[in-house]
Amino acid sequence: MDSITAIERTVVPAREARAVRVPQGRRVSVVDLEGGQVGDVFAFAADDVTEHLSASHTRSSTNRLFPAVGERFVTDRRRPILTLVSDTSPGRHDMLIAACDPERYAALGAQPSHASCAGNLHRALASMGLAVPFTPQPVNVFMRIPVDEEGRLDWLPAVSRPGDAITFQAVMDCVLVVSACPQDLVAINGGVPTSLAIDVLPESD
Ligand SMILES: [Zn+2]
Repeated sequence: MDSITAIERTVVPAREARAVRVPQGRRVSVVDLEGGQVGDVFAFAADDVTEHLSASHTRSSTNRLFPAVGERFVTDRRRPILTLVSDTSPGRHDMLIAACDPERYAALGAQPSHASCAGNLHRALASMGLAVPFTPQPVNVFMRIPVDEEGRLDWLPAVSRPGDAITFQAVMDCVLVVSACPQDLVAINGGVPTSLAIDVLPESD
């Protein structure tokens, strides 16, 4: 079988999400095109999307709050789904914060029509004919949520630079959804949401 030699790029416009299928063994990068932009990353088992990457199960597997290169993300059934294989960004990613949703924006005083990562997720899945009756807690790439010694959180602007990329390898066939977080009312995106890209990388020989 011929190997696939070109990068398959899917641009994720600011405030939107896109879904891609990633076969077992393939690598996929989330690229911050302009810098300083958070991406909410969701992954689902391709053969049963009710099984999903679970941040809480991953934390109990890795004994860490946040992702690190070389570690695996697991599903709510504790099966490995992605491995974090490389990261050109400063390495700040979050695994604590829920996806933004209409209720979050209502509490912040935004209009009901404000885009959200939760809404984006379900629209992106629907574009593939898929649906889930829940919103998993995402892995928030490039999102900077430090924890102090008393356990308090802070919400800081992303420090990823233009072109920075975090790369995963699929451990099982999966559906990956990336939302370019539309949050413009707290500082995480520097006040101005921008676009991301999903690059499914060529098959390695
Ligand atoms: Zn968001």
